[in-house]
Amino acid sequence: MPAAFRRTKIIFTLGPATESEEMIETMIRAGADIVRLNMAHASHDWTRGVIRRIRAVSARVGRDVAIMMDIKGPEIRTGDLATPIELQPGEIFDFTVKPGAPREAGEEVRSVDVNYQGLVNDIKVGDTVLVDNGLLRLEVLAKNDAHIRCRVLIPGPLSSRRHINLPGVKVGLPAFTAKDRADATVGLEEGIDFLALSFVREVADVALLRAFLEEKKSKVRIISKIEDQSAIANLDEIVAASDALMVARGDLGIECPFEDLPVIQRRAINACLSQGRAVIVATHMLESMITQPVPTRAEITDVANAVYERADCVMLSGETTVGKYPLACVQMLDKIARRIEQEETTGPREPAVFTGERMKVLNAAVVLANQLPRSRLLTFTRHGFMANGLAALRPVQAPILAFTPSPEIFRQLRLLRAVEPYLMPFAPHPDETIENAIRLLKRAGVIVAGDKLIAASDIVAEERLVASVQLRTVL
Ligand code: PGA
Ligand code: MN
Repeated sequence: MPAAFRRTKIIFTLGPATESEEMIETMIRAGADIVRLNMAHASHDWTRGVIRRIRAVSARVGRDVAIMMDIKGPEIRTGDLATPIELQPGEIFDFTVKPGAPREAGEEVRSVDVNYQGLVNDIKVGDTVLVDNGLLRLEVLAKNDAHIRCRVLIPGPLSSRRHINLPGVKVGLPAFTAKDRADATVGLEEGIDFLALSFVREVADVALLRAFLEEKKSKVRIISKIEDQSAIANLDEIVAASDALMVARGDLGIECPFEDLPVIQRRAINACLSQGRAVIVATHMLESMITQPVPTRAEITDVANAVYERADCVMLSGETTVGKYPLACVQMLDKIARRIEQEETTGPREPAVFTGERMKVLNAAVVLANQLPRSRLLTFTRHGFMANGLAALRPVQAPILAFTPSPEIFRQLRLLRAVEPYLMPFAPHPDETIENAIRLLKRAGVIVAGDKLIAASDIVAEERLVASVQLRTVL
């Protein structure tokens, strides 16, 4: 019998293949938990339109998904080309940082514009330039203040607005750009739940976004995308400064030696587990399903590996923006996750940063849950702390039924492994709140007589914090 709850959460990226009302409904009904908007390809009108559409469909379906806006950070892209250029092996090719800069007389070198003028200062002769997910490789031969002259090492077609990677080069672009600020402002106005910041290189990058959110008095959570070598060097500090982490394997696999990728993924997940932060494994999970209805065996095993590693979320990108089988992709993740979750055997361990008494109480609840087959953890959370704490302890089989009176927290809880959020106003007395929750769960058929409930709660009574664990058998 498949478990009623899937512990691993599913994120999908919205695009042409999924942006219609009908497809959004299909994806929500199939069990998607979070919708990602990639701001590399989004106008503000489109963004406002789809956020409202997602909210309207969620309300109609009766299942509120969370929305993540992915802002692009210091991303370097090529400019527009009227027609694609076919780069030839050994060809001398220019990247132009000053569009329209005059050329020396008689010079016949093909070129493309780049959106970042400072590139000429960051890059050195001998550096490698990778274009379009590393498909094209060039070597820098010379530079002046207008052009970077390269030789093509790996040829191929170059089309408009392709992403440029510069392995090992410290790019001088700010982490939170003017475009990011404008995009994020639209997101906050429309009520998004998460902001994912691309190419986080150090804690100061996260701090820029944190300061922006404080200035806007926003409670939106920050997801730091680790995508290059400097992020790996500063991993533990970045995890500590963020609400969640995304292992952005697309760019990581270009910026770092590819054989390091699985090592980095495992290290990043463990860093998040030990600090009690949520973690997302992203990119190429079901890449072949962009064009095929079934995944490769290697992809199945890759998804399974993320579940074995106890990531909070797995994410779809191209599979659901332009792919032919977006629904089948969600169903596939759902199926693999549920199967692998039955294999979970690793017990809890106390995250290093949660040393307080509350965390000890939550740990006691999880130890109890792991000893009682078919038990459920129940918690009440105004700011998400209790649910986050329980999720961080990775209970082995019990779902975490988390009640909150806040619609914002309710949606943010969608990120956390094994957490099933419920929106419910709290009664004046905590006991009454527990009774209301149990009544709601029984009515919904989530619990039946004989089930074991382990309720972890904290209340402030007579100005003292009282945290408690209660074991109840459902009557
Ligand atoms: P992107 O980030 O899809 O925005 O590039 C994810 C990745 O690099 O894996
Ligand atoms: Mn990326």
